[in-house]
Amino acid sequence: MRSLYGKFIAFTIGIMLTSSLIAFLAVNTYYHQQLKGQNDEKNMNIAKNIASFIESDKELDLENYLLTQSSVGYKLYVVDEHREATMYGEAFRVENLSDEVINRVLNGEVYHGMGNLPSETFVTGFFSNELANTVGVPFESRGEIYALFLRPDIKMLFTEVHYILGGMVLIMAIFSLLAMLIVAKMLIDPITKLTAATKKVGEEQFSGTLNINRRDEIGQLAKSFQLMMKKLSENDRIRKEFISDVSHDFQSPLLNIKGYAELLLDDAIPEESRRSYAYVIQSETERLSSLTKQLLLLTSLDQLASPLEKKPFDLDEQLKETVRKYRWLLEEKEMMLEMDIEEVRLTGDPAFLEKVWENLLSNAIKYTEIGGAIEIVLTDEGEHVRVFVRDNGIGIDDVALGRIFDRFYRADNSRTRETGGTGLGLSIVQQVVKLHGGKIDVVSSKGEGTTFTISLPKQ
Ligand code: ADP
Repeated sequence: MRSLYGKFIAFTIGIMLTSSLIAFLAVNTYYHQQLKGQNDEKNMNIAKNIASFIESDKELDLENYLLTQSSVGYKLYVVDEHREATMYGEAFRVENLSDEVINRVLNGEVYHGMGNLPSETFVTGFFSNELANTVGVPFESRGEIYALFLRPDIKMLFTEVHYILGGMVLIMAIFSLLAMLIVAKMLIDPITKLTAATKKVGEEQFSGTLNINRRDEIGQLAKSFQLMMKKLSENDRIRKEFISDVSHDFQSPLLNIKGYAELLLDDAIPEESRRSYAYVIQSETERLSSLTKQLLLLTSLDQLASPLEKKPFDLDEQLKETVRKYRWLLEEKEMMLEMDIEEVRLTGDPAFLEKVWENLLSNAIKYTEIGGAIEIVLTDEGEHVRVFVRDNGIGIDDVALGRIFDRFYRADNSRTRETGGTGLGLSIVQQVVKLHGGKIDVVSSKGEGTTFTISLPKQ
């Protein structure tokens, strides 16, 4: 049996049959141990009462009296001294009483046919309509000896109450079986739905909702599955977008390089144009190179479970060193740089954090006009350190502000195009800060400048 539903039904029917069998065996044992003897004794008393009543009334109309007894629920088999037998009440199915038993009763003994019924007979022996399954007593009437054999008439014992009880048991059994089937279906249906959904996910189809509204474990499983599907679908979308962005960002510089290289092949072009074409090729190659490096960095940040190699280092020194690297650019753009740096020792990955400061500082320089000003502040705040990188540059409008950390996002302004940015810098910054358990905030207003605030735990 392969399906859960089939197993459930098989188990239910199996349990019902086994419990019926166990109940039957238990009742059977009870019948043999207790009921058989008690029943024999009870009927023996009744037979003796009948016999003593007959013997006490010398004028009794025997025939009539015995008929009355049979009409209240007994089967009576009376044998006289001449071995003439008379039956009162419904006939026995089997008349298997031996002459020897009859003789013994006529000679004054009693017969315990009910109590001595063979033990291999099941509890059904209780109802067995046989002459041997009786009790026998002798009695005397009008000077003649008789043997009286008696047992209750089961048909008369089966009253309406028995039918009601039997019907109840039958209805309960049918109803519980039907209820089990419905419950099994209710349990298994959502599992079937989940299996179908899993198959769809396997085929990279993330659309559609699971229609399972339950509060139990299966409901929780469905909920987690739905969340997982949402996340996978989101990841799938990001991955596709990323691939298309990467292709686009590689494609345009490659096309430029190809175009200008073809122009350079023409010997007739003037020297000045030749130089400017070569310059375009050089800058596009640089752009491709930095794009590749940044992509590699992002991939390594994404893929490794713990890409950080943390160690304690002097953050103030690292910031100063970064500024030193950009000194020539600052001078070229005649920019003012103000630094307010406290001595701070931080545990983190110095190589990745260096990329953070480089990106923030290079952005501040890129997106600030010639002669602008930049301020870098590092403060020790006990458990945390805070770094501000502030510029009075072109600023970012509110719409762009919400997207600057997205991969490949570049605010659509002429400056961004000119600088040939990749749109990956701030994604890297955000990822590194996140991996260090820190926070990044940005405040900006168009035309006035931008402030990036980074807060990092010291440990
Ligand atoms: P890019 O390589 O284009 O600089 P980033 O991810 O570093 O990519 O930045 C994303 C965008 O955010 C930039 O294209 C720019 O429009 C905007 N941006 C970043 N820093 C600043 C800043 N200091 N001032 C103004 N705009 C900025």
